[in-house]
Amino acid sequence: MDNLILNPYFFTIAEVKNFSGTIEFDHEFGQMTQHTNGRTRSFKDPINQVDTQIFHLQNWLMQHGYSAIPIVALVIFVSNHVHLTRTDANDVDPRIIRPGKFIEKYQELKQKYTTKILSEQQLLNLSRFLKQHHQPLRLDVLKKYHLTAKDIKPGAPCPECYYLPIIRNYGRWYCPRCKKINRESHLFAFKDFQLLYKNCITNKEARWMLQIDDSHVVSKILKREGFKYSGKFKDRVYSLDFDYQTDYYYLMN
Ligand SMILES: [Zn+2]
Repeated sequence: MDNLILNPYFFTIAEVKNFSGTIEFDHEFGQMTQHTNGRTRSFKDPINQVDTQIFHLQNWLMQHGYSAIPIVALVIFVSNHVHLTRTDANDVDPRIIRPGKFIEKYQELKQKYTTKILSEQQLLNLSRFLKQHHQPLRLDVLKKYHLTAKDIKPGAPCPECYYLPIIRNYGRWYCPRCKKINRESHLFAFKDFQLLYKNCITNKEARWMLQIDDSHVVSKILKREGFKYSGKFKDRVYSLDFDYQTDYYYLMN
């Protein structure tokens, strides 16, 4: 679940989708098709996805003594470059919305669910309990998209034009394409590394990821970022603990 909004009357799962292009829904077949740049790809209908989430959350709540709380879901397509449509005569499921409709939808739900199920204290306890049991999603991205290590082009990316690998020069990053200079491209590369592979990195792996030959330069970069590490010298392993919930928002744009 991307977001879970609690109030004493009902809970809302807000699932955020960042697809662009034309999105076609086929709720009967449980399928969603994306057409973009002349390419067509199929995905599971997000309505099926949120229905499954509701089912699991309801079970989980029941197991922990919270029952009878209505759970609703909204699927929000956030990209400005998306067109939502449906092939047959039926409408797109009303739970699929654009961000501008969120408040209106939420108000509608508030008018629909008027029975207070939880007290403020119960709600507070439950929200703490949920946080304690929260496990961030760890996806095997390579597997999910049928990629192998060879498909990954290493390098620090240019934050302006996305060219990579850009060049490390006197403590700064220089993009040979757009000529812009920045000081933080290695962070994007490390975040990519965390998403693609694992939560830790060695000097050798960082050299590959940043496309820098000099181990001293890489060592300096890793130390300056203050990553926690264990092991000595060549065996040193730095932990990458970027927060999945807060550190990756730039990927949404
Ligand atoms: Zn550039």
